[in-house]
Amino acid sequence: MNFELTEEQKLIRSAARDFARAEIQPIAAQCDREARFPRTIMDKAREVGLVNVTVPEAFGGGGLGVFELALVTQELAWACAGINGTLSLNSVIADVFHVAGTAQQREQVFRRLASGEFGGYALTEPAAGSDVSGITARAVRTGDTYVLSGSKVWISNAPLAGFFVVFARTDPAGGHRGISAFLVERDAPGLSVGAPLGKLGQRAAPAAEVFFEDVAVPESARIGDEGEGFLVAMKVFDRSRPMVAAGALGVMQRAIDEAIEYARTRRTMGKPIIEHQAIG
Ligand SMILES: Cc1cc2nc3c(=O)[nH]c(=O)nc-3n(C[C@H](O)[C@H](O)[C@H](O)COP(=O)(O)OP(=O)(O)OC[C@H]3O[C@@H](n4cnc5c(N)ncnc54)[C@H](O)[C@@H]3O)c2cc1C
Repeated sequence: MNFELTEEQKLIRSAARDFARAEIQPIAAQCDREARFPRTIMDKAREVGLVNVTVPEAFGGGGLGVFELALVTQELAWACAGINGTLSLNSVIADVFHVAGTAQQREQVFRRLASGEFGGYALTEPAAGSDVSGITARAVRTGDTYVLSGSKVWISNAPLAGFFVVFARTDPAGGHRGISAFLVERDAPGLSVGAPLGKLGQRAAPAAEVFFEDVAVPESARIGDEGEGFLVAMKVFDRSRPMVAAGALGVMQRAIDEAIEYARTRRTMGKPIIEHQAIG
């Protein structure tokens, strides 16, 4: 098996590396200190094809796969884990529609993402994180409408998002088979977004609570079949975890690079510390 990158993959990685060093690294520390996502970076990254990497080309995306997305993510996270987090989250939204969207939903959502809009992925609740099947937000069906109620927490990009993918319980007794997914507009009556949550790291990536008070959505907003939401979430994890891991790899690489640079420049006992046996 050949693990070498193709020429195209090398070009993608190098474009992401150049962008990360030129556009993200210089502003990263300040954005992190100020807990601020720099909106213009989204437009710049879009211009060079480093967001919406997996959105099909026909809808304005990169048309690439999960592996290429991981290459891009690793480089962007090297410069700033937070800015990378916000830029790459739309790929998770795209994943939802790759695995479960109708042709109409795909076209609509992919075009919105490619136009620069942010989406939010609203799964986690205060008492249900790893335990996805424990979510309690409700979606009650009346005719061809679902009414959503409940709250979500730690929703990345919620302060920026124009719409959300929301997981809610359509069958209270159905366990993991009682969950469904919905596309919900940010301006839907009854939906509100809390203030950005404070974090110890990734502070340039805004995350917030999202509240649903009798938010009505049409049946056509359901993503996948009723009761299929847990499966959708698991399939999305399958596609998005390599990206998350690649982001962590980028952060680790940066830590190594910084440590080596420091060891080369910091001098003790007449020489750079990298020349001391315990370090170099
Ligand atoms: C910065 C940030 C951004 C996020 N963005 C989003 C987002 O956009 N959308 C979204 O829906 N969610 C988001 N989340 C939420 C994230 O998905 C959850 O934090 C995650 O699923 C873990 O859930 P939890 O925090 O409730 O921790 P818990 O599930 O309570 O886990 C706490 C600890 O217990 C461990 N643990 C859990 N279950 C077991 C078990 N059975 N056996 C042994 N150990 C266990 C875990 O590994 C962890 O170390 C975000 C979180 C953060 C911090």
